Amino acid sequence: MFDNLSDKLESVFRKLRGQGRLTEEDVGEALREVRLVLLEADVNFKVVKDFVAAVRERALGQDVLKSLTPAQQVIKIVRDELARLMGDGVDNHLDLTARPPVGIMLCGLQGSGKTTTCGKLALSLRRDKRNPLLVPADVYRPAAIEQLKTLGRQLGVTVYESLPGQDPVRICEDARRYAELNGFDTLIFDTAGRLHIDDELMGELDRIKASLKPREILFVADAMTGQDAVNVAQSFNERLDVTGIVLTKLDGDARGGAALSIRAVTGKPIKFVGLGEKLDALDVFHADRMAQRILG
Ligand code: GDP
Repeated sequence: MFDNLSDKLESVFRKLRGQGRLTEEDVGEALREVRLVLLEADVNFKVVKDFVAAVRERALGQDVLKSLTPAQQVIKIVRDELARLMGDGVDNHLDLTARPPVGIMLCGLQGSGKTTTCGKLALSLRRDKRNPLLVPADVYRPAAIEQLKTLGRQLGVTVYESLPGQDPVRICEDARRYAELNGFDTLIFDTAGRLHIDDELMGELDRIKASLKPREILFVADAMTGQDAVNVAQSFNERLDVTGIVLTKLDGDARGGAALSIRAVTGKPIKFVGLGEKLDALDVFHADRMAQRILG
């Protein structure tokens, strides 16, 4: 994960480590290189600027350069700031405290991994002794409904019966009633996606949100698409005020830009990461562990 980014940061800091005492210029030079490495990894321009400024202030501010191990201190500051960037210390728990059935709505572009993530979440909730109902609300692509049914069968999780062409808001409302009557405590709404943001889709998602008042609205972002994922997340968030982000395909060769920018740009926590196509390949996100992986 983010091998290229890690290797490049490592080589910047290898030079610093080799130097013993450090001057302000040494740190300045290293940070210029860090800036380039982050931009190459497709991190948002403003995020990089603020990040480098924060590291510089801390590195030059607190007797770091006079310490016995200045390079280690600088590296630690960079690691801490990476963690902070990704939301270290921010509450990223799934909030399921409402009266059941509690709604979790997943949204995002087609291909981002929404349907797969619905299945993964259902499995994770089952392991937490909850009883989820999967709701296919993507009525435009019959294949999406079939895909969710297949996942449901694999997991032994019930999938609400909806038909292509039905009104998605109606499906979600009917599914909630069905859940109430049949003892399901959590509803997972798999909403429609498009290849690009479009107003009609946003309107539909808005209506589902208004009617169902899901406790969680998770934006599913494909980490492989870098800044595009961040821009799309921002648009979805402006319209829907999402409660969190699921970053998928981190097992691929994503450069790191989405992971490092999406929290800072949207202000919303990354709650889960997808690490593969298998249904157990979903992890709760830990910003500090991710920073440690990037800069060990
Ligand atoms: P949707 O259109 O947003 O519902 O996307 P899908 O759930 O159909 O996923 C699109 C493709 O991405 C499928 O081939 C999934 O197997 C794959 N996928 C989803 N999540 C992950 C992940 O975390 N890692 C990898 N490698 N593939 C994923």
